[in-house]
Amino acid sequence: MHWNWDWGLDSWIRERKVYISTDSPKVPTTHQSNLTTKFLPPLPTNHLFQTIKNGKDINKMASTPLPLHPLLDTGAGLKPSKDTFPGGTLSCHCSTNKVTVELTSNVAHNHACGCSKCWKPSGALFSIVGVVPRENLRVTANEAKLSIVDAAAPIQRYACTECGVHLFGRIEVEHPFKGLDFVHVELSEEEGWQPVQFAGFVSSLIGQGLDPSLADVVRAQVKGLGLESYDALSPALMDAIAKWNAERDGVVFRSKF
Ligand SMILES: [Zn+2]
Ligand SMILES: [Zn+2]
Repeated sequence: MHWNWDWGLDSWIRERKVYISTDSPKVPTTHQSNLTTKFLPPLPTNHLFQTIKNGKDINKMASTPLPLHPLLDTGAGLKPSKDTFPGGTLSCHCSTNKVTVELTSNVAHNHACGCSKCWKPSGALFSIVGVVPRENLRVTANEAKLSIVDAAAPIQRYACTECGVHLFGRIEVEHPFKGLDFVHVELSEEEGWQPVQFAGFVSSLIGQGLDPSLADVVRAQVKGLGLESYDALSPALMDAIAKWNAERDGVVFRSKF
């Protein structure tokens, strides 16, 4: 699947908006859809923008999806995990001398992440990233090819210097998630990983070039998969972060008000 931020459709919808705002300044908003129908070529059928135009049909986008991530687009990342899943091996994308990482447990908090830092496969809007206790992760081959992407970031992401894939992210500073390593289960051939739980940092996609008008389309598509989407992490994880920060600051919790 190939997709990039410059695809023609984006500019097409922008041109439509320019047309409406410059050529019909006195037309009330409620009439703009008629105007659109009258002066612009009909929307392609069975297409993303047909669903936008129809509004209520926005959830029925299964046949014309944006490329969220292969694990979501194929449904492979939504299958229930196996009860006694022992973990597996992550491999980078090099054809030879692959960097491999062994995980001795399943991941937790596996989610789609729209932030600009997590590694994403080519063409995907989201990364799929989960965590394991750091003691459950071991680099088993070609460790010398790994290099930290940004040593100043709280999560030190170890990428293969040859193919660019991130094998794991580790936190060395005091941080709510210290002790957990961030990994991408798509790098494993094993099946049985925890399914994707939610999509986070959706609005961050705009800063990476997503037309703002498509943010709700992404959310609707995520919802269509049975997942919630958030503009940060899930409430459970945000609460965990807030609790960690509050305890660090000596906050005394109250349950009666
Ligand atoms: Zn590699
Ligand atoms: Zn991320």
